[in-house]
Amino acid sequence: MFLLRSRYKKLRPDAAVGPVLCVPRMSIGFEIVARDGAARRGRLSTAHGGVETPVFMPVGTAATVKAMTPEGVAATGARLILGNTYHLMLRPGAERVAALGGLHRFMNWPHAILTDSGGFQVMSLAKLRKIGEEGVEFRSHLDGSRHLLTPEHSIEIQHLLGADITMALDECTPYPASREAVEASMELSMRWAERSRRAFVERPGHGIFGIAQGGVHAELRQRSAARLVEIGFDGYAIGGLAIGEGQDTTFAMVEATVPALPEDRPRYLMGVGKPSDLVGAVRRGVDMFDCVLPTRSGRTAQAFTREGALNLRNARHADDPAPLDPECRCPACAGFSRAYLHHLTKAGEILASMLLTAHNLTYYADLMAALRAAIADGRLADFTFGGAAP
Ligand SMILES: [Zn+2]
Repeated sequence: MFLLRSRYKKLRPDAAVGPVLCVPRMSIGFEIVARDGAARRGRLSTAHGGVETPVFMPVGTAATVKAMTPEGVAATGARLILGNTYHLMLRPGAERVAALGGLHRFMNWPHAILTDSGGFQVMSLAKLRKIGEEGVEFRSHLDGSRHLLTPEHSIEIQHLLGADITMALDECTPYPASREAVEASMELSMRWAERSRRAFVERPGHGIFGIAQGGVHAELRQRSAARLVEIGFDGYAIGGLAIGEGQDTTFAMVEATVPALPEDRPRYLMGVGKPSDLVGAVRRGVDMFDCVLPTRSGRTAQAFTREGALNLRNARHADDPAPLDPECRCPACAGFSRAYLHHLTKAGEILASMLLTAHNLTYYADLMAALRAAIADGRLADFTFGGAAP
């Protein structure tokens, strides 16, 4: 136990770095350091260190980024990951995580963590959901146990987990849905946003984000954003997109929402996405992203490279001595051939998932670093990554 504690302390960036991050401040900090068109390069300051934006957050669903050690995740360059409230509240339970020192210590991740509200996964995974004004009643997909997730409960769970960034509970409006249904759902989410904000306990370096909804209706999106700004959050998310509406519509909704959000606060496009989605949304002023795509793809033999996506199961890789991506700095590209990675995937070896996940997260981290550099240099309009437009 002593060893674990001293090791954790050694890893904590706020114990190891200079005075800037140690200055107590309420909420999280956000500083914009460069702009290019609508795009911004910035820096978030949290209780667990600084984060350069635009940023992609690897998804750590069950207190782990699947197939990765925390050191491996940090080696990709990630300093902010996402944890899933729905999964953690059911197993191992938020109180247990809190008793064990919080999520950072529990999973040995010394950097920043954003937790979602649990709403999206209640809608997509749980059984027998019943949505009412109070919250969502559901049965666990694990053991059928009954739960009620309210805005207050969601915020309390995220507090127990110790999230640096907490998300307000919202209802994820199904797509497609009638305008009336989308409007009613958005209005419910705004009432929940207000209750979430009220339930949030302010601590230095910790913040809460509201989530704009409104489906594919620009006017509802704007009304939702305006309501959130009225309530007042530390950052603003755009939710309920990339669920089948198509990239053009996703971008149109981002364009409708961003002008209604404050300039000086971070903007987060939830659950997005493909490399081309990230580039397009950064150009439209989004600062933060998360998606299971790089990690899930890593477990299904899909690799993102500067030449496009590759399927390592394909027999054309069987005799190829070349690395996945010659410009990539990850352990998979540094030491292994496409032929070896093909062999691992064919043989169902665990190392295939580990190497391909490390590669995909490195690709995403390097894509975001390249976007940040392009914004700083004012050359985002002609942005390419490895000579191609993602
Ligand atoms: Zn690589």
